[in-house]
Amino acid sequence: MPSSLADLAERFRITNGKKFRLKDVDPGDTGKLKSPEKATELLRESVRLMSEFQEKLYAQDRWALLLVFQAMDAAGKDGTIKHVMSGVNPQGCEVSSFKAPSDLELDHDFLWRTAKALPERGRIGIFNRSYYEDVLVVRVHPEFLAGGKLPPKLITKGIWDERFESIRAFERHLARNGTVVRKFFLHVSKAEQKKRFLARLNEPEKNWKFSANDVKERARWDEYQDAYEDMIRHTATKDAPWYVVPADNKWFTRLVVASAIIETLQSLDLHFPKVDKAKLRELAEAKDSLMREK
Ligand code: ATP
Ligand code: MG
Repeated sequence: MPSSLADLAERFRITNGKKFRLKDVDPGDTGKLKSPEKATELLRESVRLMSEFQEKLYAQDRWALLLVFQAMDAAGKDGTIKHVMSGVNPQGCEVSSFKAPSDLELDHDFLWRTAKALPERGRIGIFNRSYYEDVLVVRVHPEFLAGGKLPPKLITKGIWDERFESIRAFERHLARNGTVVRKFFLHVSKAEQKKRFLARLNEPEKNWKFSANDVKERARWDEYQDAYEDMIRHTATKDAPWYVVPADNKWFTRLVVASAIIETLQSLDLHFPKVDKAKLRELAEAKDSLMREK
């Protein structure tokens, strides 16, 4: 991988959130890249690399990779997932979207629905939103907590710290069992979000993406930013780092995400399973019998 590509993601990786401040990350940052052209070329190269790594991940069947995507509306989650994963064999990868919980889901703890969606060994699982909504939208809207089925006695001031603790433990558990977790917060600016909402309103082919609720949530912008910052401070770890990815330029966002995934896969030392002697003999016999066919 070109070294500039490797460096790209590293700058945005948080493995210890203690001193993290969201305002230190500029959503308009594009690193040393000034235009989309070079980025498109690098993205194409990274998509090719990713497909190679993914084949080995699948063949080796030991590790699983979980990629978590969180962002404000219109930050580009869907497009990033689509572009970055475009070269990957669909059989080796699954996207799960997490919406407001169903009645059945509310009958369980907040991590329950996650467990069912985790990727198998050899696969890449993508979470489009995730259990992190339970410390984001639910924090900004305490009425969701009140409207859920948690015993009121357990709804205390400490609940967010408790949830962070549960999440850290859960992610450490996954890491210890061979599921590699990487988390992406696509950090878009308020001005760019407005531009994208207006495009959804003004361009007929984008109308379907518009939701009036998204504008309502925009009114809580600062509360969401605070919730995101606190979430990163408490859940960025070595085992499961957050990448805080500038999201005002989609071409840059995609490249940073691709680079982070490649860096991660590269660190796993993936290789095709070795063929042993018995297997080699079997292959030779099969070849022999095929060649002898009339
Ligand atoms: P997206 O907004 O991710 O592009 P979408 O527009 O297709 O997806 P929505 O119907 O907006 O889907 O579903 C996502 C909504 O579900 C978000 O507003 C999100 O905050 C909400 N949500 C997700 N998880 C929870 C949760 N645990 N509690 C409450 N709301 C949640
Ligand atoms: Mg939505």
